[in-house]
Amino acid sequence: MTAPPAASMPRPRLATIWLDGCSGCHMSFLDIDERLLDLADRADIVYGCLVDAKEFPAGVDVTLVEGAVSSTEDLRKILEVRQRSRIVVALGDCAVTSNVPGMRNPFGPQAVLSRAYLENATVNQQIPVHVPALLEESLPIHAYVPVDVFVPGCPPSADRIFGVIADLLDGRQPDLGRQSQFG
Ligand code: SF4
Repeated sequence: MTAPPAASMPRPRLATIWLDGCSGCHMSFLDIDERLLDLADRADIVYGCLVDAKEFPAGVDVTLVEGAVSSTEDLRKILEVRQRSRIVVALGDCAVTSNVPGMRNPFGPQAVLSRAYLENATVNQQIPVHVPALLEESLPIHAYVPVDVFVPGCPPSADRIFGVIADLLDGRQPDLGRQSQFG
């Protein structure tokens, strides 16, 4: 009697999400070009700019997070991401330090909104109301949730991003020192 075939290992589940960032980190992720096919071979991409998922799913293995936490909606998302992800990666300087979004912190949200929508507007001066409220400060994601891997750079290079993902999918802690040659 032959042994039944071994159960196949479940494929790792990969997600990316975008909080208060400029999309440059996601553009750099997409710049891995044909290596996206390698990723698709090795993992299920379950949320982010490459798939049309509306809800952040449960049971994600690796989530790359671009951007700082600047609004009530960013905060809701990062808490959900942390709860549903085994490994959370702070991708890029905005996620790691708050970087550009954090430049508003000395002034407070009301002053920033007034400057943008009242003082600098030539028509229809009004502060939008049907958008998520800004938090008092824009903060890096580790201010709210534990982060497993920090990937600095503005943006991190495509080679570095691919190296980090490949390491994590292979079960290795990313060696950012080794990858520093890639920028
Ligand atoms: Fe944009 Fe740089 Fe922030 Fe990435 S780290 S979201 S490229 S400003």
